[in-house]
Amino acid sequence: MTEHHIGAQRRLEGIPASPGIIIGKAHLVGKSRVKILYQYLIDERQLNREVERFKGALRTEEEKLVTLRDQMPNQVKDHAFILDSHLMILKDSMFVDSTIERILNEKIDAQWALKESLEEIRKVFEQINDEYIRSRITDVENVTERILRNLSGEAEQGLTEIRERMIIVAHDLSPVDTAELNISKVMGFITDIGGRTSHTAIMAQALEIPAVVGLESVTELVQAGDLLIVDGNTGEVIINPDDSAIIHYQEKHLQREKYKSAIARISHLPAETLDGHKVAVMANIEFLEEVTAARDYGGEGIGLYRTEFLYLRSKGLPSEEELFEDYRDVAGIIGPAPVTIRTLDLGGDKFASELYITKEMNPALGLRAIRFSLKEPEIFRSQLRAILRASAYGRVQLMFPMISGLEEVLEAREILEQVKDELDNQGVEYDHNIKTGIMIEIPSAVAVADILAHHVDFFSMGTNDLIQYALAIDRINEHVAYMYQPFHPAILKMIQQVVQAGKNAGIPVSLCGEMAGDPLCVSILLGLGIAELSMNARAIPLIKKLIRSISLKEAHEDFENVTGLTTAKEVRAYILDRMKKLLPELDEKGYLNSGEKYF
Ligand code: PEP
Ligand code: MG
Repeated sequence: MTEHHIGAQRRLEGIPASPGIIIGKAHLVGKSRVKILYQYLIDERQLNREVERFKGALRTEEEKLVTLRDQMPNQVKDHAFILDSHLMILKDSMFVDSTIERILNEKIDAQWALKESLEEIRKVFEQINDEYIRSRITDVENVTERILRNLSGEAEQGLTEIRERMIIVAHDLSPVDTAELNISKVMGFITDIGGRTSHTAIMAQALEIPAVVGLESVTELVQAGDLLIVDGNTGEVIINPDDSAIIHYQEKHLQREKYKSAIARISHLPAETLDGHKVAVMANIEFLEEVTAARDYGGEGIGLYRTEFLYLRSKGLPSEEELFEDYRDVAGIIGPAPVTIRTLDLGGDKFASELYITKEMNPALGLRAIRFSLKEPEIFRSQLRAILRASAYGRVQLMFPMISGLEEVLEAREILEQVKDELDNQGVEYDHNIKTGIMIEIPSAVAVADILAHHVDFFSMGTNDLIQYALAIDRINEHVAYMYQPFHPAILKMIQQVVQAGKNAGIPVSLCGEMAGDPLCVSILLGLGIAELSMNARAIPLIKKLIRSISLKEAHEDFENVTGLTTAKEVRAYILDRMKKLLPELDEKGYLNSGEKYF
């Protein structure tokens, strides 16, 4: 958090968690955590009673969670899994059994024992490589906090009793708190702790309520009733703003709203150029819960379902049944539009703790994606069975990631055929004509795209990895981030080569890397002949707007003009100039004036 002082007003910067600008009064809730300062020794004869007291606090919480889950407002019903995960914590042995053992063995009170269990669990989480899972410790902390409150009888400062529309200021807001909120009375949240991937952020986004988290000590700095400005796009919070700040943010808010509604109006129109050329605009998703948003933002299907997260979320490996149910639901919700399910792309920067993946010097060049699946055929088969079974419930396409050459395609297809035979023998239904494609994201695959094209039904270009491998830059290393250059002539030539290979073989070529959702890339990608763009759902309305404001002829010309240029810098300057004519609100970074990429 950084902090600047301007007169009486105070400006803080936290982590933007859910977009939108709000100006309103502060409502402080439960200023800090329950403080457990002392350990009490319990008399031998009272120990069982102490255990019962702990179990009682667990039961109270369970009842509360079940009621909350059943009464969740429709908007956030998709997020009921968050409450389920809290219910699971209440049954976890590290949480429950070890606390009971502590009470009995150490002869101490339940609060202290629970606090010790939390510390132990925290140590386990700290060892986890994956940031998403590591950050889930906040769920355990939330549940602990609530049990401690139940045990100590300390009432929470009510979230439910807010009378006028206010901005919630809290140390942390658990997903359960969020579910309890009276949505019509809450303008937004700001909290001391939390990260971008915290469930509070997920909830706030689902409710479309602006939120800023990770402000460190905002609960100390804000008094009840203080006027606040919260900018959920940039992470800025202003306490007691002066008149000029209020006017500035009101103006910013108005512009944003105007812009949002102008764009939203066209989000469900087809992505068709001025001269009638249609492009499929699809959404990339990582969780089942995102499908509705993908549709709401105007996605014409799911162009890339990254399936890693079910494996990262589960304790062990997810079962075929779990996978099947998830894929079936995605296919069902988005249907009759298609969904392209990509098989596991674990490894690289995505690890699952339970899966045996050795520590590698160069994980991006290591045992990831299809290489991992082919080395662990049982894990691969289980996923293929789940995808095939789901194909009976919607329009499912199957895609293999990180293909480097023909051997991998043949080997993956052979296993796929075996799995199909197995399902046939068992009389299990699936789409016998399921389209099977590959990601083109390794330079060697680009070079042999003409060969690969005869063995698959479609190509999808993964430019995130393609740029990484072609320009030899680690995509997660901030020191070389400046070299992430989608406009590098080498990248444009590679895309062109793949499109040509697809055309010659008569198979469609889509693009699902970040480039697809980048407003600067639209014209070039159309000019290159990409048939389908798949992107972060929130980028869809803007990309559609851009597609609808140019002609294919102009896009071809743009592409022709940049093929004569020799550096990424020149290509970018040309494109920025062109796109700014179409979209004056683009700034030099290719962002919208409000400082964000999407609205
Ligand atoms: C890509 O590499 O461009 C891509 C879409 O896949 P991921 O970002 O999951 O590696
Ligand atoms: Mg990739």
